[in-house]
Amino acid sequence: MSVLDLARAEIRALVPYSSARMEAAGGQVLLNANESAWAPYGDQGLGCHRYPDPQPAALIQALSALYGVAAAQVLVGRGSDEAIDLLVRAFCRAGEDAVLVQPPTFGMYAVCARVQGAGLVEVPLAGDFTLDVDAVLAALTPAVKLVFVCSPNNPAGQPVPAMAIRRLARALAGRALLVVDEAYVEFSDAGSVAGLIDHHENLAVLRTLSKAWALAGARVGCLLAQADVIALLRRIMPPYPLPSPCVAAALAALSAPGQAAARERIAAVCAERERMGATLRRLPGVRDVLPSQANFLAVRFDDAGAAYRRLFEAGIVVRDLRRYPGLGDALRITLGTPAENDRVLATLGARP
Ligand SMILES: *Cc1c(COP(=O)(O)O)cnc(C)c1O
Repeated sequence: MSVLDLARAEIRALVPYSSARMEAAGGQVLLNANESAWAPYGDQGLGCHRYPDPQPAALIQALSALYGVAAAQVLVGRGSDEAIDLLVRAFCRAGEDAVLVQPPTFGMYAVCARVQGAGLVEVPLAGDFTLDVDAVLAALTPAVKLVFVCSPNNPAGQPVPAMAIRRLARALAGRALLVVDEAYVEFSDAGSVAGLIDHHENLAVLRTLSKAWALAGARVGCLLAQADVIALLRRIMPPYPLPSPCVAAALAALSAPGQAAARERIAAVCAERERMGATLRRLPGVRDVLPSQANFLAVRFDDAGAAYRRLFEAGIVVRDLRRYPGLGDALRITLGTPAENDRVLATLGARP
């Protein structure tokens, strides 16, 4: 049994769209794709008059080196959101298959499932927001084709131990693809589980340049998985997913000086996380600050609505978590610059 047997048969059988660039690579005079022969005004050498490489070799190379996987195990797209959508479309038949998630968690898994017409199986995290592997396995039905695990979790902030991922991957073998979303792993001590994909063919990992790499506006994220899963998703991906300026921005961020800058930013975020956590915990009206390994803190208040409004009136927007299960008294505060964080503290009544 291959993990591809879990995918929709009609997707496996699909003849993908064949773009002009795919049919004939190379050549000096490009007259096969109805592009403009002239660069646009203000192009600055980006070559935006040409369709971009569907999976730019230099970017794939940089990402595979960064994440420690083979180039054929990387699919790069418009944020990890696109990979989530592609996975659900490739693996879930409308009205038949399902996705399993553990609330409170990132909302896109459920949204993509609903858009596809797939079912949603919800297995709440344990009371301390850790993953309950036994509960996930107990809730598994034959319909579940994808299990999304967010580590560190958004919005609670905790990572899932690699042991639990390994156990889950083993138990799901032949039954479902386990997708570990590591959007915040750069801020965590836990480390990535990307190295396990060679040992578990039903394991996939989502990574993004939107958080630690400061590129949310460029929309670059990827899926790391078995080469045949990557190849399957490429069949249903639109032909030119990555705009040339975004690829250029990603390559700059992943260069040696870009990586050094990212390390500095990550260290600054982690230092602010400690400082903010300690200070917030002492504030009147703050009940608790959840342990976080991400670039945000989930904070419980005596009156979260009042705290939200107070911050809002001071021009500070945070995320209201009150509709999330187990977080009815909480706000999620992204860690900003030290000056921005000081404004949060001052507004919430900390003495300078
Ligand atoms: C922010 C976030 C993402 C990132 O999505 P992109 O589409 O790559 O910007 C993915 N998963 C989680 C849990 C997130 O919080």
